[in-house]
Amino acid sequence: MRNLFLALGLAALAACSASTSTEPANDPAPEATPAQTAAFLGNAKCPVSGNDVKQDVFVEADGEKAYFCCGDCKAKHEADPKAALAAAYPEAKPLGNTTCPVSGEEADGSKTVSWQGHAIAVCCGNCVGEFPNDAAAYAAKAAGAH
Ligand SMILES: [Zn+2]
Ligand SMILES: [Zn+2]
Repeated sequence: MRNLFLALGLAALAACSASTSTEPANDPAPEATPAQTAAFLGNAKCPVSGNDVKQDVFVEADGEKAYFCCGDCKAKHEADPKAALAAAYPEAKPLGNTTCPVSGEEADGSKTVSWQGHAIAVCCGNCVGEFPNDAAAYAAKAAGAH
């Protein structure tokens, strides 16, 4: 009698675990949000700690911003924002834009301006000179117009 109950109990356990085996999750994928928010063109990692930066913690020099993860890291660089920029952007990578963000004309990449780690293509020397006057806006425009 005991053995029978034991067998029944095991069978019930087996059935139970079978029925709770998880089926493949069938959650609908979240709808892709259209890229309406402007691309973040700053450094992603804090040059002091290596942690993810906060977009409202930065130092600024000549229209460029270096971002940090926290106020403590920012404080280490506040006295010398240019050193912060050098640390945050050790090299300028081509942004890949083919339209000059200043003039709207074609930019073949032979003339670039360096801004926050991006080499942004512009069409001519005049635009190189104009770029710093509204750098962040021009950079955002270039990033949105590949
Ligand atoms: Zn920090
Ligand atoms: Zn131009």
